[in-house]
Amino acid sequence: MNDCLPAQTGLWQYVESVIRQVVASYAYQEIRTPIVESTHLFKRSIGEVTDIVEKEMYTFDDRNNESITLRPEGTASVVRAGCEHGLLYNQQQRLWYMGPMFRYEKPQKGRYRQFHQFGLEAFGFAGPDIDAEVILLSHRLWQRFGISEHVSLEINSLGSNQARADYKEKLVAFLRTRQSELDEDSLRRLESNPLRVLDSKNLQVQAVVKDAPKLIDCLDAESQQHFDSLCERLDNLGIEYRVNPSLVRGLDYYNRTVFEWVTTSLGSQGTVCAGGRYDGLVEQLGGKATQGVGFAIGLERLILLLQTLELDQQVAAPVDIYISALDESAELYAWQLSEQIRSALPQLRLMNHCGGGNAKKQLKKADMSGARWVLIVGQDELQEQKVTIKYLREHTEQVSVARAELIHFIQQSF
Ligand code: ATP
Ligand code: MG
Repeated sequence: MNDCLPAQTGLWQYVESVIRQVVASYAYQEIRTPIVESTHLFKRSIGEVTDIVEKEMYTFDDRNNESITLRPEGTASVVRAGCEHGLLYNQQQRLWYMGPMFRYEKPQKGRYRQFHQFGLEAFGFAGPDIDAEVILLSHRLWQRFGISEHVSLEINSLGSNQARADYKEKLVAFLRTRQSELDEDSLRRLESNPLRVLDSKNLQVQAVVKDAPKLIDCLDAESQQHFDSLCERLDNLGIEYRVNPSLVRGLDYYNRTVFEWVTTSLGSQGTVCAGGRYDGLVEQLGGKATQGVGFAIGLERLILLLQTLELDQQVAAPVDIYISALDESAELYAWQLSEQIRSALPQLRLMNHCGGGNAKKQLKKADMSGARWVLIVGQDELQEQKVTIKYLREHTEQVSVARAELIHFIQQSF
């Protein structure tokens, strides 16, 4: 679990604010749910035989001996809240969330025990149009962050429950012929949840999986049509993708469309965004049957990608203008000016010098703050009701501005 220090919080805030803007531009609304839920909720939704439920959940008994779990993902909680508050009953919803998730994993680059996800869930839409919309929205995010060239889209269809059940038989028959090449985990899953074998991270197992029959070749007619229609929409919208037949996702609730945005710039933790359709989940968790589709982006991986590509420079320094009073008599004047600017121009970030010291020391502090301008006042400025503005990042001579003109001057030229 990581601390997020002041040197990084600017980048986090930048990422979060771009996300907020983009989801708003598609008219999605935020939902906030608690960080703990009943353990039962995750077992029922994510699936008993999955990495998350088998070995990654932070689960403990509370004082009343009820088993609770720190949320490992967001979808189950959103569905639970949606059902509980009647948001999903004969309604359509476009929702998003952002916050910490917890998984007991082996920490490494791009994989942590507390990490953060931004996620999206759309409920009550049956057709492939909404699948295309959520993919389009994620695509817009990459454009906004300037990383479109560095992520690629992989899609697949998991078909209907029936198609998956039929496919399972074929898959099991095939895997039995290659049993000696499977690892312990996969052998166990062959019995309990054979589709999970496709999701194995073991390279030797992956080689076997390559030769396995493909689910996408056994789709039911409706799922096939849904998938074709989604592909056509993506083609028409100019969104490139690759159909990856072994993409199954690590959670049991998906059906039909599944997708991931992956990058080759982060080593083996290359999945930045993952999602798909989960048409059965609402009913499975006790609600009225309602289609769902969504995705989650791992914010640490997105931020790591921005840093790797040196795109984190676009984050502004935390200070715009530094305020310096050269002697004690001018200190009150400096505070009055800075408060006046804060009232008139609330979006500007002003840092007042504290702790006295000579002009040289104060200018050094101003420079270190990252500010573009330093606003200097001393006895002369006080007497003449003026301010001196020194430019810290441009080769421009300092200027003197009358107090009455100051707000206007900043508005015009900052
Ligand atoms: P992986 O295959 O990398 O374990 P996953 O299938 O477990 O991913 P999801 O449950 O689909 O991942 O979560 C969606 C996204 O959240 C992932 O694509 C990734 O970006 C991010 N994520 C998942 N687990 C972690 C983690 N432990 N630390 C940081 N980010 C994570
Ligand atoms: Mg995982």
